[in-house]
Amino acid sequence: MLELITPVKYVKGIGPRIAGMLAAKGIETVEDLLYYLPFRYEDRMNPRTIAELQPGEMASVIAEVRASLLFRTRRMPIFEVTFGQGRTSLKGIWFHGTYLKDKFKPGQLVALYGKVEQNKRGRGSLQIIQPQFEILAGPEDAEGAAGPSHAERVDREAEARVEQSLEIGRIVPIYESAASQNLSSRWFRGTIYRTLQNLSRDITDGIPRSVVERMKLMERRGAFEQAHFPQPGASFADLQSARTPAHLRLIFEELFFLEVGLELKRKKMRARPGISFQLDPRVREAIKKFLPFHPTAAQKRVVKEIASDMQHPSPMRRLLQGDVGSGKTIVALQAAVIAIENGYQVALMAPTEILATQHYLAARRLLEPCGYRVLLLTGSVEQDRKRDIRRHIAHGNVQLVIGTHALIEENVEFARLGLVVVDEQHRFGVMQRFKLMKKAAPGEKPIGAPDVLVMTATPIPRTLALTLYGDLDTSIIDELPPGRTAITTRRVSDEREQEVWEFVRKQVKAGHQAYVVYPVIEAAEQTSDFPGMAAKDAAVPAKSPAEPPAKSKFGLKAAVSMYDHLRKKVMADLRVGLLHGKLDADEKESIMRHFQKGEIDVLVSTTVIEVGVDVSNATIMVVEHAERFGLSQLHQLRGRIGRGAAKSYCVLMTGARVSPEAEQRLEAMVRTQNGFEIAELDLELRGPGEFFGTKQAGMPNLRVANLLRDRQMLEFAKREAAAVVSGSDPAITKEEVSTVMEHLRAHWQRRYGLVEVG
Ligand code: ADP
Ligand code: MG
Repeated sequence: MLELITPVKYVKGIGPRIAGMLAAKGIETVEDLLYYLPFRYEDRMNPRTIAELQPGEMASVIAEVRASLLFRTRRMPIFEVTFGQGRTSLKGIWFHGTYLKDKFKPGQLVALYGKVEQNKRGRGSLQIIQPQFEILAGPEDAEGAAGPSHAERVDREAEARVEQSLEIGRIVPIYESAASQNLSSRWFRGTIYRTLQNLSRDITDGIPRSVVERMKLMERRGAFEQAHFPQPGASFADLQSARTPAHLRLIFEELFFLEVGLELKRKKMRARPGISFQLDPRVREAIKKFLPFHPTAAQKRVVKEIASDMQHPSPMRRLLQGDVGSGKTIVALQAAVIAIENGYQVALMAPTEILATQHYLAARRLLEPCGYRVLLLTGSVEQDRKRDIRRHIAHGNVQLVIGTHALIEENVEFARLGLVVVDEQHRFGVMQRFKLMKKAAPGEKPIGAPDVLVMTATPIPRTLALTLYGDLDTSIIDELPPGRTAITTRRVSDEREQEVWEFVRKQVKAGHQAYVVYPVIEAAEQTSDFPGMAAKDAAVPAKSPAEPPAKSKFGLKAAVSMYDHLRKKVMADLRVGLLHGKLDADEKESIMRHFQKGEIDVLVSTTVIEVGVDVSNATIMVVEHAERFGLSQLHQLRGRIGRGAAKSYCVLMTGARVSPEAEQRLEAMVRTQNGFEIAELDLELRGPGEFFGTKQAGMPNLRVANLLRDRQMLEFAKREAAAVVSGSDPAITKEEVSTVMEHLRAHWQRRYGLVEVG
């Protein structure tokens, strides 16, 4: 009998080698294996005959191999297999298909899936190009006669018969293959089938009875069985869209435990005593004194909201949303002054060194004249200096500490931390925020838990915000500082680069500055800046099949080489600078300083400038290979200009091949400057995982649920989780609650990849 916690190596057919391959996929236990759900299903109940196929449809067909042929055209080798049913036939065509040449043998039964097309040369005959296929049975099943004993062979044949029934005459689950095809879809199907057969009867997960009833959840074991091997009556459409009762059960379960975990954290956080900051006339005077300009009405409103939270004794948990350039920084600094004037320290975290550095420079300029001490702590600060800084922080003789996540990762102990500001939240994610708050407020200190203000320029679509960030109150800056003019955005082919450079030169001659952004630092690389950040977020080609392959070595322009080219040839008369993530912190800081002071006209860069960089004299943003960037990324990049009164221009240059998805992104950029609209569209195009930057951003690793598709379920799960944690449902017994907690303790870390509960 297999239990859910049984390691997969005890499943029949899985030896140490395969167990290793599975482990690389995160599958270590029987339970993990059962959560490896099919990504689609094939309706092989009533397989189509070749005779009834129509060109243009997606179809799955079961047919026999008749012949195969490998031939070369001038451009590539092509492998062609003729599949037959009686007198009808169909060709399967694989470009660059040399690797398949020994795979097919006449007489094999094969299931094919793909788009049916008219074969141009074959006068009316049909073909499927690059079909997905599965060899179901055939000559190779008789292999190995010399090896196994008779008994073993009988065993295998019996097994083969069972498996055959898994392949045809039913709705068949299709799995993503793993370990570079070594573990095929068919392998998973057979293995999961056997696993379910030998699985212990008792596999409850401890969702309380009344929740199960309210949500009309089916029983867990049945859910696994039917998600993998649907019964004949199952709705094919529901299966494909993960809407069957089985799927909904597993999705709910996953989201429920996630929300219980989050709910516990929130509860714990809320229960902590916080700090009541005083807002007397002296403090108000201090705030007024350092303000470099009149705040907008929206800024005034949110400062009021923040100040009122800070006066309140429970810890502030507030999310400040405001589009790029709406002036969040100054709001944060006002909050900082309140804390500092009350005798507390403030930590401000930014997602990149450049942004941290820039905040540092701005904060020093504004706050040092008031007598506050400001320090910068990032990962690349030298050890000795770090030690000094840590000491100053611990002794309380620095009031504002600005840094990257080095601030949470390094051993920093504050003497009297009163306020934590996290800038550009979407880069960090929920889990990191919890970690920071916990780290920042080690509880035992006699002072209360610090207030936390989280700032983001990515408007988080409302439903997701409510469920994932439900513990945060929100403030919105919905107004830009006065004097901003709309940015003109143009899309041009890079064949017209001469005109673009001419335009840049003209603007520079008129006293402005420009950014020119590239997707990669150096020509030979595929990765981009932000080693710690989500690679996907950093201009790596989208994984859509329509996207041209990464032509990293040739064709893709890179910051370093284009810097040379622009500086020496195209703009020899201008001052050109280079900024990217591989420079060390001092170099970055000095380049930013030169650019800020207007000593660099044209800054060639990568996405390191994406977030928060603020030089109001810069009015031109040229993005090369704009087709390679994500939508939010382009929006952030464009947010670097249009920060002053002068008219600003964003030029999106594109290479030769632009995928349909990229077209949509570019079109949206030209059409709108509205951050909310762009965020919604981006979420739609990419899905929530990539939208939030998945793992690096601390998003939970969900296996069954999809935060976008299952938004509604997430709300239900949150509601039910809250009922469990708060004890508001009298029908839930103490035993049930402790079962939930037990399940959570056993699964939290491994399943969601999150920090421990409570
Ligand atoms: P973001 O919200 O993107 O972080 P910043 O805080 O960097 O925006 O502000 C963008 C620019 O607008 C900065 O140059 C800042 O000094 C300026 N700014 C902010 N608020 C005002 C204001 N009320 N009046 C004039 N300029 C402002
Ligand atoms: Mg900012």
